[in-house]
Amino acid sequence: MLLKITALPGDGIGPEVTDEGIRILKCVAEIFRHELSVSTMPIGGAALLASNDPLPEVTLKECLSSGAVLLGAVGGPSFDNFPRHLRPESGLLRLRRELGVFANLRPAVCFAGMEDASPLRAEIVRGTDILVVRELLGGIYFGEPRGTQGSAPDRVAVDTMRYAESEIERIAHVALELAKGRRGKVTSVDKANVLDCSRLWREVVTRVGRQYPEVNLDHMYVDSAAMALVANPANFDVLLTENMFGDILSDQAGGIVGSLGMLASASIGGRVGLYEPVHGSAPNIAGRGIANPVGSILSVAMMLQHSFGLEKEAAAVTRAVSGVLRGGARTRDLAKPGQAALSTSEMGNRIEEAVRRGTGQEVAI
Ligand code: NAD
Repeated sequence: MLLKITALPGDGIGPEVTDEGIRILKCVAEIFRHELSVSTMPIGGAALLASNDPLPEVTLKECLSSGAVLLGAVGGPSFDNFPRHLRPESGLLRLRRELGVFANLRPAVCFAGMEDASPLRAEIVRGTDILVVRELLGGIYFGEPRGTQGSAPDRVAVDTMRYAESEIERIAHVALELAKGRRGKVTSVDKANVLDCSRLWREVVTRVGRQYPEVNLDHMYVDSAAMALVANPANFDVLLTENMFGDILSDQAGGIVGSLGMLASASIGGRVGLYEPVHGSAPNIAGRGIANPVGSILSVAMMLQHSFGLEKEAAAVTRAVSGVLRGGARTRDLAKPGQAALSTSEMGNRIEEAVRRGTGQEVAI
């Protein structure tokens, strides 16, 4: 298969972690005999400095003509005072919109041996393997009317939560389909005791759920879900929710399993899938070669699965990450005091070796 990828390394640690993601893609392509074509384009602050546009037209065109996009991170303190439309982050928001990716997938997995990276007790977090499926293009972040009226001290601000049945239906199908390949459980999270949008959400999700008799669908109010996530995270399988609840709960789920550097994401459902680690550009550690590349590498695994349907290849990468962590490899963000820490490229190297070992392709690197 031809894997035509656009890489958008971006700012700060973005290029460092993306290099390791691409290293793993190259390794998978070689082992499983796929043809890999990677075109690297500017986005964010790097693009702003070069062309005064955080998402240059050539970058967008390249993304739209590729099979998948791998992004590093955008932003940094030197851009904080730029006007909103010229901030690195607005390039990323525009990219998501242009790609039409309405489903954001954020796994929160507690890998064996990583229990102590969690703020929760090991016996609570052990076995946690949650996939948050968040609706990404609707709800209160996009609803109209919005804005602030009047003058201080009598200003009034308005945001509008709005959902169409079709928007709820399409994201429900994504979650229910994905649950079939996992443990077969979907928890749909809403606030149907208060919000009309949530009542419609629950009604539509229930209706779509009937088409998936093999999936066990239940519903939870968002406040109970927030509590259950910390009390019993291992009980969740797929957690389906709307845009704002998903924004909050996916960060909470990530926080439960530990370091920000480990978290991957996929945004799918549009013309081209977008894969990116959850973390930002981490200017405080950029350029030192100490960033954790696992978020980027697990984003590559998600790309192989969701954009190219390459389940075996995706599993080989996830297994390699899991094995390397179980074996005690730690970057600086994960290492305990006194424990040796690997650099970004050493961690990438270990994972590449593990992919090769796991697929019977052991060679000296
Ligand atoms: P951040 O995620 O960049 O960093 C938060 C903390 O986590 C820092 O201490 C950082 O060193 C650490 N960290 C993050 N990723 C790490 C990794 N891979 N390995 C080891 N440690 C890691 O968040 P921030 O500091 O709030 O934001 C920095 C910049 O990134 C800002 O300009 C922000 O707007 C931008 N940002 C971009 C994205 C994105 O591109 N999707 C997301 C969040 C923030």
